[in-house]
Amino acid sequence: MQDNSMLDGTIASVDAAIRSLNLEDDMRAVLVEPWREIQVALPVRMDDGNVRVFRGYRSQHNAARGPYKGGIRYHPNVGLDHVRALGMLMTWKTALADVPFGGAKGGISVDPKELSTHELNRLTRRYTLSMHHVLGVNRDIPAPDLGTSAQTMAWIMDAYGSIHGHTPGIVTGKPIELGGSLGRAEAPGRGAAIVACRAIVDSGSTPEQSTVAVQGYGAVGSAAARTMSDNGARVIAVSNVDGAVINTSGLDLDELDRVIGEGGSISDITDADQLENHELLELECDVLIPAAIEDVITTRNAPNVRAGIIVEGANRPITSGADQILVDAKKTVIPDILANAGGVIASYFEWAQNIQVFKWELERVNRELDQLINRAYDITREQAGRTGSTMREAAFHVAVGRVAETIKIRGYVG
Ligand code: GLU
Repeated sequence: MQDNSMLDGTIASVDAAIRSLNLEDDMRAVLVEPWREIQVALPVRMDDGNVRVFRGYRSQHNAARGPYKGGIRYHPNVGLDHVRALGMLMTWKTALADVPFGGAKGGISVDPKELSTHELNRLTRRYTLSMHHVLGVNRDIPAPDLGTSAQTMAWIMDAYGSIHGHTPGIVTGKPIELGGSLGRAEAPGRGAAIVACRAIVDSGSTPEQSTVAVQGYGAVGSAAARTMSDNGARVIAVSNVDGAVINTSGLDLDELDRVIGEGGSISDITDADQLENHELLELECDVLIPAAIEDVITTRNAPNVRAGIIVEGANRPITSGADQILVDAKKTVIPDILANAGGVIASYFEWAQNIQVFKWELERVNRELDQLINRAYDITREQAGRTGSTMREAAFHVAVGRVAETIKIRGYVG
């Protein structure tokens, strides 16, 4: 099998589910085709006085189960196929987590590190003004993704509010001061760690006996590492764009967070050895959590992966070809639509709090998050156990089945 594109790989997973569910061709068309896509030019005056025109996208894949929901990504790789694949993944993620949303993803083709804060502010407002007619609390609710943050959501909320009036529920993952939810920032990593611990126990081991490597020590990776460590696991290696570090007795996460928080590099921490980034993926450990970006485990390095459990903290970090290699090697892969669903689950709680003009305590957010992610794990595991399929096949089977059911009830097909 080849390292095919993220879009082709995602459609292949959907097609496998369509076959296992015995769905008709007309249902397939409704499930696979994005329902609405928009592509805009975004002229922005840069700090030096020149105008640069960026390209912005939103792929609204499916809204059969509720309003479109999904992040906005600022990254040079962003294009229509890219957001189309990621939007589709959101549809299956929200369905598997059983939160009342569809799926979408948007983005701008830009390297946010090259822009000043003022330029990013202007770019984000221009994007919002070009998109506001397809967004809405009951239409499409963006959230942060790679290259965007709570600050980006604040700008979107402000720009949207200047047209529609104060509307906190238009975005999730926003600052707490503007109606963001406690626990939302840590939720994707927390969810990834919870399912990782479930997979460890299902493999006959315990978190206390397990070692963990995290590729991509960012928003998702750092919260995943922290929760794994809180659950007793030993986090032995982490990496980010600045480098990779290892300490087989366990890294000092407090020091790591302090150094990074002070603007330092990951390799500045004292009690650890340096590692090449690619070596981290091939490390001897029990759990590997790729939590950065797509296509990091490919047919080239998959044969060298030694971890027995791989948890997709990022969206589609494993290509389809690599996935087959890992499955053949009898590894357990916890797929993205389950592993990183904690983010959108907490987004649902944030949206619900905004609609009710009410605030939840952190304890409630975490308790309800744990319940929903564990339920999603249970149903996936049950389906995999019943049919002998992989966790990815089982997750897609459940998710696609749920979306197809609502499409039928709505009367689109059948
Ligand atoms: N961008 C995140 C994801 O890929 C969160 C989406 C959301 O909360 O809407 O799941």
